[in-house]
Amino acid sequence: MNNSLVSTRNSKEKVSIYQAIKQGLASDGGLFVDPNLTNKQVNLKTTVKLDYKPLAKLILKTLMPDFDHRALQESIEAAYHNSFDTHDITPLKKLHHFYLLELFHGPTSAFKDVGLQLLPQLMRRIIKPKQKIMVLTATSGDTGTAALQGFKNVPQIGINVFYPHNGVSPIQYRQMATTIGKNTRVAGIVGNFDDAQTNVKRIFDNQNYRKSLAKKNIMLSSANSINIGRLYPQVVYYFAAYNQLVQQKEIKLGDQINFTVPTGNFGDILAGYYAKQLGLPIKKLIIASNANSVLSQFFKHGIYNRKLPFKKTYAPSMDIQVSSNFERLLYYESQKNTAEVKDLMHQLVQDGHYQVSSTLLKHIKKDFAAGFTNNDQILESIQQVFHDSQMVIDPHTAAGYHVMREYQQRDPDTPMVLLSTASPYKFSDAVAKALLRQEFTSPIKATQAILRATGAPIPKNLSRLWKLPQRDADIISKDKMLNYINHNLERIF
Ligand SMILES: *Cc1c(COP(=O)(O)O)cnc(C)c1O
Repeated sequence: MNNSLVSTRNSKEKVSIYQAIKQGLASDGGLFVDPNLTNKQVNLKTTVKLDYKPLAKLILKTLMPDFDHRALQESIEAAYHNSFDTHDITPLKKLHHFYLLELFHGPTSAFKDVGLQLLPQLMRRIIKPKQKIMVLTATSGDTGTAALQGFKNVPQIGINVFYPHNGVSPIQYRQMATTIGKNTRVAGIVGNFDDAQTNVKRIFDNQNYRKSLAKKNIMLSSANSINIGRLYPQVVYYFAAYNQLVQQKEIKLGDQINFTVPTGNFGDILAGYYAKQLGLPIKKLIIASNANSVLSQFFKHGIYNRKLPFKKTYAPSMDIQVSSNFERLLYYESQKNTAEVKDLMHQLVQDGHYQVSSTLLKHIKKDFAAGFTNNDQILESIQQVFHDSQMVIDPHTAAGYHVMREYQQRDPDTPMVLLSTASPYKFSDAVAKALLRQEFTSPIKATQAILRATGAPIPKNLSRLWKLPQRDADIISKDKMLNYINHNLERIF
């Protein structure tokens, strides 16, 4: 097939888009990529006129030409028809010095909803009649809830979420514990996010296990941004941001703009890189990390070191050392050199670090810049934005703000869009600490105090949260994940 996908580690493993979405991860541990991505283009004069849903259809048709058009259309309609609280899906606001792209208007109030409302819709339309899919998801907090919400009670599909026990916010926990479906199970892992993600990947890599499941017509899949079916929908909002800038007459069609993206697993910002490949005039994509500054360090020396000390921060969804999707970037920026990518990924596992060639680093730096933000700077940024624009931003967005302002000293003139990845009420403890200089005994009290002080509206799903029935998560050790999955396979299917 013309439009088949390959593994980042082996261009001979070719699969269809359906297989890639169902399978999640390539069988050699690599990620699925489209070797033809760099030849695909959309016409800005066409995209600029489109509302979110038709825009999504056009972008996704370009990215996945083999996906049945009618199924795609139905999936987009089901995903975005009424689960977001605004017609624009991802509205853009003009603030002091920059534009804020709000990605948190979906059912769980984080940007993950944009991908995870659509992925289950795509999957349910391509699953074969007797087939079953078990979705395994490692989460630093927000993916878990958004995936549970998207996959809840979808027939023939089950979902297991693994999060770091004691590593998510009280609200994130409560969201997961209250999103209850017949086919959903949630477990806290004694360890951090990278432990959860590494073990999920190890289970994917276990060929014997996959074969034994295949005999029962069960496939494993992923709802993380390693799944191309979750990554592609995120490309759309980069175009949606650009459209709004043109419509609001802030820029002219064809003008270049910059994006700053609060970054953890590198899925969100990679979608921006894909948008650039399709022809969106992006000058630079600025990676913003929290105190877990692995990517910033990489930009200095070309050394990716996963062994830097792990830090818990006010932006827990970015407390990540191994940014999985960076592997896709290495694939494209190395001119699709799968042998080189395979070697680097092998070194990362063996030695805990790798160093790229100076040429590869130079290519990456042409498209990207990087910076990081410590905890105090996160709180200061929340205060600053409220002071300048009376907008309340969440700690992840605040980490982005700090890095963005640093970058704007180098390039003050190019219009800048900052991606706002979560509602501030999802992380009310840190926000209350920043704005009210006060620590609260419960997230409910913090939420009410922020509301009183700022008047910022609370998303409906979060105000309802504490009234919903809850099913507590199971707590398991990280070497018991496989047993746990087996147990759930029996309970769910
Ligand atoms: C997941 C998440 C991020 C990081 O996004 P990646 O795609 O993992 O880089 C940033 N902010 C919030 C609120 C998130 O939930």
